[in-house]
Parts: sequence; structure tokens; C-alpha cells
Amino acid sequence: MTDKATRCIHAGTLPDHETGGVNSPLYPSSAINYLDGEDIFYPRYFNTANQRAVVDKLCALEDAEDGVLFSSGMAAISTAILAFAGRGDHVVLMEELYGGTRNLAANVLPRLGIDCSLVAADAGAIAAALGESTRVLVIESPTNPLLSVVDIRAVAALARERGIVSIIDNTFASPVNQNPLQLGMDIVVHSATKYLGGHSDLCAGVALTSAERAGRIRDLASCLGGSVNTLTCYLLERSLKTLAVRVARQTANAGAMAEFLAGHPAVRRVYYPGLPDFPGHDIARDQMHGFGAMLSFDLDETRVDADTFIRRLQLITPAISLGGVESTICSPARTSHQKLSAVERANIGIGDGLLRLSAGIEHRDDLLDDLAAALG
Ligand SMILES: *Cc1c(COP(=O)(O)O)cnc(C)c1O
Repeated sequence: MTDKATRCIHAGTLPDHETGGVNSPLYPSSAINYLDGEDIFYPRYFNTANQRAVVDKLCALEDAEDGVLFSSGMAAISTAILAFAGRGDHVVLMEELYGGTRNLAANVLPRLGIDCSLVAADAGAIAAALGESTRVLVIESPTNPLLSVVDIRAVAALARERGIVSIIDNTFASPVNQNPLQLGMDIVVHSATKYLGGHSDLCAGVALTSAERAGRIRDLASCLGGSVNTLTCYLLERSLKTLAVRVARQTANAGAMAEFLAGHPAVRRVYYPGLPDFPGHDIARDQMHGFGAMLSFDLDETRVDADTFIRRLQLITPAISLGGVESTICSPARTSHQKLSAVERANIGIGDGLLRLSAGIEHRDDLLDDLAAALG
């Protein structure tokens, strides 16, 4: 199975000996006979058949040896970090990270005696922050919400040289548009709530890596909990079959919307790695298979303010999540970054007129018409 679209459909599927059906049978039991096998199976040991089916499919998509499926993206990220960092250790993360991860680094890890440095989304800044006691490095690319692109190969090489475990949150790109393990990263995590689930109706997460590191993550996960139930496994397995076609269409729609917005007089600036003049475009072209389906833009609020614009949209829905089949839009200043002061927001480039758009799979022309009408 060389092609990703084929792996999306066939990898990991459990055989249905009972009926010959093409879908994995569902095994919802939490009480499982232990007498006849070597392993003990239990949902919170992260080893039930339906958990394995999803992990195997995701391993095939990210070129990983093994992985652990969690009940949320944050469970995957926090467990992966804590599996490799403890009291007295230092963790380097990027300033521009998903809000939940940033909050973990700013408020929770320090309470456990883990020293955290938050640095700019740039290989040089990351290199400068690595020290003797650094055990873990956490990055995202493209980032939320400004789509900054980090040179993943360079960062992975830095970490490898020093024996630091490198983790990347690959949620924004999805395995269709970027495969960081092939670029040298050690662990890739996803919020499966987004593209992997893709229908805005489930919450899950995954960490994918070598068999050895996955074992360490699974051992800690068994203590912390955060396992996912069989029905969510099934929804996720079903969704993953269409991941490649969904993300290809979403990526094409994002490209068309980015180009349209970049040429509109009511838009000041568009943040999308696929635009040739976007900083990081060349690196993105080199390390991504597609430029992704997320974009952000600054409205010229003297022409139309963000609130009015969003209220005028008929199709594109205001919502904070992303990656679903429906296009959604949100104001980072009003949602993910509302706890920061206006000055703090301005310092990191998040103005009141900034909007983040997640492209869905609607027809391109309907999306462009919706944007055009709302821009006035
Ligand atoms: C949503 C998201 C997360 C957190 O995932 P949950 O499933 O909500 O816990 C982490 N990283 C990124 C980039 C996200 O978009």
C-alpha cells in the first residue's frame, strides 16, 4: 500500500471472520478473559482491538512503528511530554503553540518541577534555548493562528544531536500534508478532534513514534488514564477512510480562499504558507506535501469590522474548533487568546481584525461568494 488514500481505507482494518463484513467488528467489552493469552487486555491499558485498529491505521499514515490513542489531543500531548520529562528537567516549547499546550507549559509543568522555556518559532531561537538539562522539545508547524513555518528537519537534527526527545503537534497539517517522523522528529501528536475525526463530532488524540517510546508513553498513560472508548474508536476509524480525499479538497479550498482574500481591498494581510510571498513558503514547499487547509487574515477594520463580517457570513460558520467538513471561522482575540491583554495580543501579532479560517469541503465558488458578500 504505497498510496496514502489506499492506506486510509485498508490499513489496520480488523478482519470480520463472523460475517465477512468489510468493516472492523466492534469489541466494546471492558472485561476481557485473561486466561488464554500472555497479554492482559483492558481499555485503560490502551490495548483493546478497536484501539489497535485505529493506531495501526495512523501508524501507516505517519510512518510510525507504534502509537497510543487518547481521549483528547491534550491527553496525548501532556502524556507524551511527561513520559520524557520530570522534576529538574528542562523543556523547550515555542511561544506560538496551541493555547492548551501553552497553558500546560506556563502553569502546570512548572508546578511539577519542570522548567519550561517558551521561544520564537525559529530554528535559531530554539537552538539557543537548548541547555544541559533539556530533555524535551515541543514544536508546531504551521502554527496557530499565524501559520508560521518552522524548519522541521533543522530542529529535529538539533534535538537528535543532543539526545533531546523532539515532539511535534502535526494537527494543522494532518498526516496528508506533512509527515514529521520522515523529517527526523521523534514523536508526532495529533488532536484527532480536528482533521482525523473531520466531522466535528468526536474528541480524541494520538501520539505516534518508535515502539520503544510508545511503550514509555503507554506505561505513563495507563497511570494517568485518558483512554478512549470503543464507539469513538469506531467513529474515528470510519472517518479516517476519507481523510485523504477530505484534506485534499480542504487544502484546495484554502488555497483558493487565500488567493481571493490576498487580492481583496478590505483585507490587509493573509497568512497562508501556500502564498508565494509568505515568509516560510519555501520551507513549507520543501517539507509539506500540501500547504494545509488553515489560513488567517487581517481585515481592514476601517472598511468592515471583524464582528460585522462574521455575522454577514451565511455559509462559513463561527466556531472555535477546526478541521471539519464544514468551513468555520473564529476570532483568536475573542476566543483562544481572549485572556491576554490587547497589548500582549498586539505583541504577538494578534489584532482584533485577525480571523482564522478552517476550510471545509463545500464547493469552492460557494465559499468565495460567501466571503465576497460579507466583505461588502
Ligand atoms: C485542538 C488542538 C489541540 C488540542 O486537542 P483536543 O482534542 O482539543 O484536546 C492541540 N493542538 C492543536 C494544534 C489543536 O488544534
